[in-house]
Amino acid sequence: MPEITKGVYFIPGQDEMIPDAHVYVIGLPSSQDLSIVDAGLMGKGAYKIQTIQKLGIKLSDIKRIIMTHTHLDHIGCLKEIRAQIPHAELWIHEEEANPIEKGDERGVYGMEMFRSMCQSQYGLKAGDFKFKVDRKLKEGEKLEMGGLSWEVLHIPGHSAGSIALYDRSQKVLIPGDVVYADYAIGRFDLHGAEGSVLKKSLLRLAELEVDVLLPGHNRVIKGVKPGYIRDTAKQWAPYLR
Ligand SMILES: [Zn+2]
Ligand SMILES: [Zn+2]
Repeated sequence: MPEITKGVYFIPGQDEMIPDAHVYVIGLPSSQDLSIVDAGLMGKGAYKIQTIQKLGIKLSDIKRIIMTHTHLDHIGCLKEIRAQIPHAELWIHEEEANPIEKGDERGVYGMEMFRSMCQSQYGLKAGDFKFKVDRKLKEGEKLEMGGLSWEVLHIPGHSAGSIALYDRSQKVLIPGDVVYADYAIGRFDLHGAEGSVLKKSLLRLAELEVDVLLPGHNRVIKGVKPGYIRDTAKQWAPYLR
């Protein structure tokens, strides 16, 4: 199922011990103005790039990489992907762009224990996720890219600078790790996360008309039931304080 809907391509993550985030390529190929949403886990860059090429997409047409947020399972192979498309800009919400530019990796690893585990297992060192950010995204921006129009929604709670991209005309929502299929939501115990804030973000997403839900992990849904996000938020409300 590579093309989910017009101008939206799905590259499923290849989970290992740690999950690997899905990648979405957005934009009409004829526009030659495509964007990659998220990167994935360390070591998955080659797989993601090969899959993009197999879809018939030219790397030279990829103009930017947009991060839904900067957790390790999303940013882990960013360097590998950028090595293949060095011309692509990096766009991150300002709340996470600033720490990423300073080399503050608390938000990448989420917790100290996880940092030391990953650093020894993957041979990572401090500063590996320090990047210059070309554009710091803000709540409410409209991104006209690749012949489609996406709204930037700042939806913190899972992480401080989580965003969703929303295409109102096709009713497509890319919410990162804030809400998944099967009434699941993102964890809210990591650095920069907060349950009560996540609840607000979920209720905000619940206001949108969503037909296609494209989360960072697990199943994607075409034909989302009306009220799905609201029902999910309701189920989790007792835990989101
Ligand atoms: Zn996450
Ligand atoms: Zn994730």
